[in-house]
Amino acid sequence: MATLLIGYDVECESKPEITRHFLHTVAEVHAKHPCTLFLLGLVIEKNADYLKKVANNRMFDFQQHTYSHKLLKTICIDRRNGTIEVHKGVSLQEIEEEVAKTSELIRQEFGKECIGLTGPWGYYRGLADRPDILEVLHRLGIRFTRTYGRDQFDFQPVAFEIQPFWYDAQGFPDILEIPIHDWQDVYWRGMHGWDDIKGYSDHLLWCLDYVAQRNLIWSYASHDWSSILKDSDMTIIRTLLEAADERGVKVQSYLDYYIEQKEKRNAQQTGN
Ligand SMILES: [Zn+2]
Repeated sequence: MATLLIGYDVECESKPEITRHFLHTVAEVHAKHPCTLFLLGLVIEKNADYLKKVANNRMFDFQQHTYSHKLLKTICIDRRNGTIEVHKGVSLQEIEEEVAKTSELIRQEFGKECIGLTGPWGYYRGLADRPDILEVLHRLGIRFTRTYGRDQFDFQPVAFEIQPFWYDAQGFPDILEIPIHDWQDVYWRGMHGWDDIKGYSDHLLWCLDYVAQRNLIWSYASHDWSSILKDSDMTIIRTLLEAADERGVKVQSYLDYYIEQKEKRNAQQTGN
């Protein structure tokens, strides 16, 4: 069954009022459709009371986006326009501090165990080439990652055909990578104009038809700030959710998807 996973990186720590507007709106938009919030530790510190308003809403799943948005891996973005943009990844020790601190904040503030993480900026191949990072994440209890968010040019789009996979070959058969597909909203809307709400909405409907016809998983990434920028009532997401219902595409949180896949895998391994 074609499935749409929607994850918001909640990361606007410099403007807490933007996160607050987002939280207020998203609670209404997702009244009947589950989603996941990948929280930046700094945002939890500034907006814990507002996050608590949706923490017990069963449509919302809380996971993390590191403490301060440091990159897990170095990326060299080649936009094929003659320039290469390099952003450096941090050390294993810093990764450990960033992730451990955020999991602790989620535990303290909301009483939830964090098992999922979106890697800041996204990377080509996710963490397939970095078993050392997977080892750190595994030790900290992370069981699903959303880190494959770039193509071989460290840019986008990421093909829908790159479907979720387990890090078996790297020695972590219980960590599931759930790539981020297509263009991130910030790139698409940045290239085509943030005012072009209809154009972006039509693009998402094209994506929806693509995955529906092929029975694929679509992992869609947005952000607290980008989902309301020039679209303060989140009409783009409202239209997408309505269209998913019309086409019979299942909408699921990342946590529920992970649990379902884990159960399926366990059943296959025990031959049931
Ligand atoms: Zn981010």
